[in-house]
Amino acid sequence: MDLLLVVNAGSSSLKFCVYSIAEAPTPALVSRGQVDGIGTHPRLRARDDGGATLADQTFGPTEIADVAAAMGRVGAWLREKYAGSNLVAVGHRVAHGGPRYSAPVIVDATVLAALERFVPLAPLHQPHHLRPMRSLAERYPGVVQVACFDTAFHRGHPEVADRYALPDDLYKEGVRRYGFHGLSYEYIARRLPSVAPEIARGAVVVCHLGSGSSMCAIKAGRSVDSTMGFTALDGLPMGTRCGQLDPGVVLYLLTEKGYSATDVEHLLYHRAGLRGLSGITNDVRDLLASGDAHARLALDYFVYRVAREIGSLAAAMNGIDALVFTAGIGENSPEIRARVCARSRWLGLEMDEAANRAGGPCISIPRSAVSVWVIPTDEEGMIAEHTLEAWRTHEGRRSHAHDGVPEPAA
Ligand code: ADP
Repeated sequence: MDLLLVVNAGSSSLKFCVYSIAEAPTPALVSRGQVDGIGTHPRLRARDDGGATLADQTFGPTEIADVAAAMGRVGAWLREKYAGSNLVAVGHRVAHGGPRYSAPVIVDATVLAALERFVPLAPLHQPHHLRPMRSLAERYPGVVQVACFDTAFHRGHPEVADRYALPDDLYKEGVRRYGFHGLSYEYIARRLPSVAPEIARGAVVVCHLGSGSSMCAIKAGRSVDSTMGFTALDGLPMGTRCGQLDPGVVLYLLTEKGYSATDVEHLLYHRAGLRGLSGITNDVRDLLASGDAHARLALDYFVYRVAREIGSLAAAMNGIDALVFTAGIGENSPEIRARVCARSRWLGLEMDEAANRAGGPCISIPRSAVSVWVIPTDEEGMIAEHTLEAWRTHEGRRSHAHDGVPEPAA
């Protein structure tokens, strides 16, 4: 059996999915797992596609001290579990492809060096994404590795959506509105023709509402604008991130309050958003269950900002045909969906309450001017599709080269 591995590495965890690529045009999930507590209480867990436990092992902190060690441990587990199978390619989630990468790319030394240069653009994520790539390249130089970017799907934005009103030299060195969650939006865009063909060519606002939240305007399957910008801080309030903020607040914190850059970073990434507003938690389930006035305010603010951005992204597309909810909150919270839709009635949007409670996929009534959908996202599945496409192209070129047919120019 030929297998693909998808890797999504964080600061203290490494998630992975294994796919078989037998005959089907798209990869089929075989198992998924993660190593968490890296460097503290490392634990490797894995389940098959039906949810049955395949592994649950704990390790000492020094046995899996960093992400590279976690990658090595996952590699050893895969070799044992899938002995006799052939790992042909590994797909990686990478936060930042900078201005350069608008599509997935096969990783080699030049690409790794280029991705290294984008570390300052995503200092909290990019280093963790590159580490397993480097360790796999050293240990298994023959395995094809594919970098799939959170930014790539947004690279076709019109210039007015890609710019800040700042001098050109800053734009040229990379201070741009990149947008993130691109793998999630691309997955949704690819599913629309089968799930909701009537809107696939239309103007669609997708709300990716999870612990990180953003929204994307997709017209005829292509991203035209997003609520996130230079970093994954902008736009909607998130679990612990602030969302849209006047940069004057940062200046005030630095000059009047004596905050250091690290203090500001900690505030904006970890002490803000739903947690900051409520003073209680970043989990929407707990906020919904709480009777506390601050919990109510946090949710009111979240719903208000999502509804406001629907208007903004509709304006970016000169109209809106459909609204799609996805990710942890978007897929699982009928209450948040209902509240966002109630605020969006001015668009002629009418929700079907029973369909909303049942979870969709279509949750608007037939005469609604804007149809509303719930479509589960699958970022790992998107990475697997990209990795398979890149690997097949790579293999095709290699076998042509072996046949004596010259490789097409890149
Ligand atoms: P990520 O992949 O970014 O970690 P998810 O997309 O899994 O995040 O979303 C996680 C969030 O989804 C949780 O913080 C929680 O607030 C929210 N969530 C999950 N299930 C529900 C639910 N039934 N109702 C409301 N919110 C939920």
